[in-house]
Amino acid sequence: MKTIGGTLDDITVVGLDTPGPASSTGVFSAKGSTNFVHPDWAGFDIRDNLARKLGKPVTYLNDGNAGALWGHFVLFGAKSPATSVSAIVGTGLGGGIITEGLVIKGRKGFGGEGGHVLIPYQSIRGIEGLHPECNCGRTGDLESLCSLTAIEKNLLPYFLSMYPDHQLAKLGDLRKAAKLVRGLAEDGDPMCKDIFRVQAHALGLFFDEMVNTFDPDALIVGGGAIETKPEFQKWFVEEIHNGMPAQRVEQADIPIHIMPNGDTAGARGAAIEALVVGRQGGLM
Ligand SMILES: [Zn+2]
Repeated sequence: MKTIGGTLDDITVVGLDTPGPASSTGVFSAKGSTNFVHPDWAGFDIRDNLARKLGKPVTYLNDGNAGALWGHFVLFGAKSPATSVSAIVGTGLGGGIITEGLVIKGRKGFGGEGGHVLIPYQSIRGIEGLHPECNCGRTGDLESLCSLTAIEKNLLPYFLSMYPDHQLAKLGDLRKAAKLVRGLAEDGDPMCKDIFRVQAHALGLFFDEMVNTFDPDALIVGGGAIETKPEFQKWFVEEIHNGMPAQRVEQADIPIHIMPNGDTAGARGAAIEALVVGRQGGLM
């Protein structure tokens, strides 16, 4: 609050977002959550507890949905009936679907969980024989090919078997190596660039499914994977297009945007959600 020169009294509604899995009202999964590993976080109602602590109403979105809401808001404003689908490539694969300005949360908060949608990965060139497994237990969902975890668990072991003399093979630590792939890809390293091409093509297959399901106004891609120079972002988006099966003429011009404001998109989207809910509730 000191940074913006305000006090708690200036705040009407608080917008909160966290990584999941969590319910649509902000209760962490009973099995624990990715970034909240201490057992006491399991089943913890983070939204309600923050509301009690601050004495203010608190709205909740998972970080993927919050980022998606921000991307949508920047592109279309608050009152547009547009539809957008976002994929945010980080440790996992988050994202969300916004239609008529509203985040699709679904019955229990798992709406818009693109990461665990199965994709026809067997059609991606250059990963023949790979069985990409996801932490959720599925084989061949989007997150199993398009996330930092996918690089560490599936793509690097596969590619390093073809590049045994690669500098990342010599590192002997897949977790550390996975974090270096993006920088090396940006610098033009052929193996790392190919790993990013596979990720882009996986996104292309996912977006194709979303195009046929929602006929959206825009597709948005964000997350740490594309916190890169604009040239690399441009190449990555072109590769997503290359990975998409041919679209019908009417849908071929659906644009793919880069998520605005990088990794602050989630916090910004959480604030928009607070604004929307606060207005609906007559609080502002
Ligand atoms: Zn999965």
